[in-house]
Amino acid sequence: MELSIIIPCYNEADTLDELHEQLTNKLKEEKITYELIMVDDGSTDSTMEKLNNICKTNKNVKVISFSKNFGKEAAMLAGLQNASGNYISIMDADLQHTASTLLKMYYKLKENDEFDVVASYIESRSNEPALKRTLTSMFYRINNLLSDAKLLPGASDFRVFKSNVKDAIISLPEKRRFLKGIFSWIGFNTLYVPYTPLKRAHGHSKWSIFELIKYSIGGIVSFSNKPIKGIFIVGVVSFIVCFINFILMGNLSHRTIILLIGILLFCIGILSLYISRIYSNLLARPCYIIKTKIGFDKKTTK
Ligand code: UDP
Ligand code: MG
Repeated sequence: MELSIIIPCYNEADTLDELHEQLTNKLKEEKITYELIMVDDGSTDSTMEKLNNICKTNKNVKVISFSKNFGKEAAMLAGLQNASGNYISIMDADLQHTASTLLKMYYKLKENDEFDVVASYIESRSNEPALKRTLTSMFYRINNLLSDAKLLPGASDFRVFKSNVKDAIISLPEKRRFLKGIFSWIGFNTLYVPYTPLKRAHGHSKWSIFELIKYSIGGIVSFSNKPIKGIFIVGVVSFIVCFINFILMGNLSHRTIILLIGILLFCIGILSLYISRIYSNLLARPCYIIKTKIGFDKKTTK
């Protein structure tokens, strides 16, 4: 089979029929053998009902349904672990990513043998709220300063890649996953193409600003130990400043002590981010639990 398309779906019942139609029309036109791996990430609307129906009408559709909501990272991982195409793609279910861009990326990858991944990046965020834009650009700056997994600003999970890239991704055993960072860390030659996502067709984004901040901090912690090393430097500097202060003044002022407590708590906060990751990886619980898998025994057609 040529192309596996992985689609994480969380409460996307309103867009699935249209998405399926757009994709299958394009893929049939281009005569590409494909499989759509639609992962229902514990949706509470009629997503699963829709997926069941789509699966019945199309032999190339496979459905994985989770026992509860495990998050987009888990859904993408499940898709990757079950994909068998020569080329793999990941796209969103909300029609923000189009079939025509996906195919453009696929052909770019086929034409340029020196590349292993074609990835889209969001060139302009002018239609996003100012706060989100500022936080996003801050994230990329901080990430690229601290992290070993450098990211192109705006780089997205909407990509097409060769199956050896998929094998590398799923070989990483970490439990708290940050796919954008993983793509960067595993290497391979990546061609970036600019892309402007369409407006969401229905519903709303599943990510609040708070969740995006949590996800971004998690991404940095996954690929950098510089924050921990920073704690050592902060400790040494604080000690020297306090020591000099003590020698000169004979005591430490209340203000200095309060500042020191603040610094200490902040440093413990940073440590706790790492400890919680160690804890997750030690428990080694699976990233997701599958309730049902449908359509994997069917033969795919063009
Ligand atoms: N998604 C998911 N699990 C989640 C949240 C989101 O599978 O817990 C899916 C969602 O259905 C969509 C994609 O991930 O297909 C991107 O989600 P969303 O559109 O909310 O994110 P945004 O486009 O705002 O980054
Ligand atoms: Mg979206």
